[in-house]
Amino acid sequence: PEIIKTKEIRKVYRMGTEEVKALKSVSMCVNRGEYVAFMGPSGSGKSTLMNIIGCLDTPSSGQYILNSKDVSDMSEDELAEIRNKEIGFVFQTFNLLPRATCLENVALPLIYAGYNKTDREEKAFLSLKSVGLDDRIHHKPNELSGGQRQRVAIARALVNDPSIILADEPTGNLDSKTSYEIMDLFHVLHQKGNTIIMVTHEDDIAHYAHRIIRLRDGLIESDERNPNPTVVD
Ligand code: ADP
Ligand code: ADP
Repeated sequence: PEIIKTKEIRKVYRMGTEEVKALKSVSMCVNRGEYVAFMGPSGSGKSTLMNIIGCLDTPSSGQYILNSKDVSDMSEDELAEIRNKEIGFVFQTFNLLPRATCLENVALPLIYAGYNKTDREEKAFLSLKSVGLDDRIHHKPNELSGGQRQRVAIARALVNDPSIILADEPTGNLDSKTSYEIMDLFHVLHQKGNTIIMVTHEDDIAHYAHRIIRLRDGLIESDERNPNPTVVD
């Protein structure tokens, strides 16, 4: 079953009298449970496409169907609700609140979802446990290593049980050993049935994904199954 379907998505940015065609016509589908890497040179449209898939932005034309709902023309408020329910975001820079503990950071999305404090803490604890950080719940981000911070961010992305995990250069700020640990975690999430889409410009990171989509100049240049994904021991 398709979870993401884009039909001839175009995105034009207007800057004064100038137009930038960031996406020219992008059509693709992702099924539930797939693990996809987006690659492509800087400026090829990866962030623009990720922003649309993540409901942070809407296409200038074309259709985007997420979980059978047409989100192409939704209002800001409707998009915010879909985002909170359907998407777990993981960023290169972790985007954690520095003054909040791990537990508070992970519980944050649950405030908007309307859970009470006890339920929020219970769910946040279980999510931190699932990434192996149940012994760090009262630590603040600056008391953790980079890899641990990214695992907190992943726990936060998972806490609402989203349909899709969107990761933008998730290993971009990590050394290679820590990067592979994060890829091990993605591997486990994929095996549990999560749908994962990540942007990376590192070949060895992309090679963990089971499908690699390359963008160039606002178009899909290639879309290939990875017959031999890097296996985690
Ligand atoms: P954004 O956060 O707007 O998506 P980019 O993805 O363009 O920014 O860049 C994020 C970081 O990755 C930057 O430090 C950039 O220099 C680096 N980077 C982006 N694309 C490539 C690439 N194809 N090869 C090497 N480094 C890249
Ligand atoms: P990538 O993530 O692959 O580096 P982007 O999606 O960030 O590519 O950018 C695609 C093109 O759109 C680039 O030419 C970029 O300069 C342009 N672009 C991206 N965001 C904006 C914006 N907010 N306003 C104007 N142009 C933009």
